[in-house]
Amino acid sequence: MSRYYTFNAADAVEYARQFGGVDDPLSLITADEIGDGNLNLVFKIRDTQGISRVIVKQALPYVRCVGESWPLTIDRSRIEAETLIVHYEHCPQHTARVIHHDPELAVMVQEDLSDYEIWRGELVKGKYYPQAASQLGEYLAQSLFHTSDLYQNAEHKKSEVGRFLNPELCLITEDLFFTDPYIEHERNCYDAALQPTVDELRADISLRIAVGDLKQRFLSNAEALLHGDVHSGSIFVAEGRLKVIDAEFGFYGPIGFDPGSAMGNLLLNYCGLPGLVATREAADGREQRLQDLRDLWLSFSERFLQLARDKTQDLAFKIPGYAEHYLKHIWHDAVGYCGSELIRRTIGFSNVADLKNIADQEMRHECQRHALSLGQWLIITAPQIDDIEGLIARIRQNG
Ligand code: ADP
Ligand code: MG
Repeated sequence: MSRYYTFNAADAVEYARQFGGVDDPLSLITADEIGDGNLNLVFKIRDTQGISRVIVKQALPYVRCVGESWPLTIDRSRIEAETLIVHYEHCPQHTARVIHHDPELAVMVQEDLSDYEIWRGELVKGKYYPQAASQLGEYLAQSLFHTSDLYQNAEHKKSEVGRFLNPELCLITEDLFFTDPYIEHERNCYDAALQPTVDELRADISLRIAVGDLKQRFLSNAEALLHGDVHSGSIFVAEGRLKVIDAEFGFYGPIGFDPGSAMGNLLLNYCGLPGLVATREAADGREQRLQDLRDLWLSFSERFLQLARDKTQDLAFKIPGYAEHYLKHIWHDAVGYCGSELIRRTIGFSNVADLKNIADQEMRHECQRHALSLGQWLIITAPQIDDIEGLIARIRQNG
């Protein structure tokens, strides 16, 4: 018999008292359920002063935003905790710390990050965090390099691939990223005014073939332990600081998927800005997003290459030029996955505030069409885009 039961606030407080690692456990007295995510319960545990001290997060046996009609494995809680623990080992400064977790109860205690803000909310308001993108690049390089074949022993890696199979959550990505947006599906979500653009997208055979390739690599290329859901809603920022949370989609997949998803979210904001803030602010914000894109890729790629120079032991991978060669593949994948994130977040199941929040309907549709055409173009031309400056130049040309 499983010990699983759904926590209420009192259960969350009791759990935090036992496993929260605080010096004065009895001072923890209340829990507010603050989950704004799609999937799980998130409790903020406060002490007698009303100060929040730790977070208790529990997976429900279904997709929260849909209900019990969409069942979902609670093993995702183990995957989330174990992914964060591995990533924390390699990049503690940018990974949320898991203090305790219990796979059977599908629950974990995490450090409280209430003094940070969710990056997406800040981006939507037009607030710039100049260090965030390079810090995210650092997180991605550390977590992905250290779990890749360039660093891990091959035998150990195979057992890790098994530990992080995560088939149910991967299936969600496989469907929502690479299948649903390109067919008629009840999970898709967009205004009727976009239908002609969506029809054109679906009729574009070279796009569909390139998307097939992206899906095939997502299914088959177990390159490193991905976070699997690096969007700006899974990233906490504060002045000069950044922490990544919410790793329940973690699995061994193609390295380019994580930086590609992150780049896609920066570009969703780039597309939405003219509808979100005043004209002058939007122009400045767009320049900041392009700078973020550059900072993200340069910090990721430079750290990845430096780690390869310093730490790769495998004689086949150590030869001069190999890491650079491998990074080229990662780059082309990242550009493709970036494009697929743009499309699926515009017309698929999980829309984003960067576009959804645009009140003026005409303007919203214009920004959404921009996101779709940029996504389409990125996916098709990914193999020909050589580097980050080439990408930025082309984004500017696209309007
Ligand atoms: P889900 O898996 O359901 O998407 P998230 O991990 O994204 O849940 O958390 C939902 C929300 O709960 C976040 O947007 C954030 O506001 C809050 N939250 C999550 N983790 C923490 C944390 N460690 N510290 C403070 N707030 C958090
Ligand atoms: Mg979330």
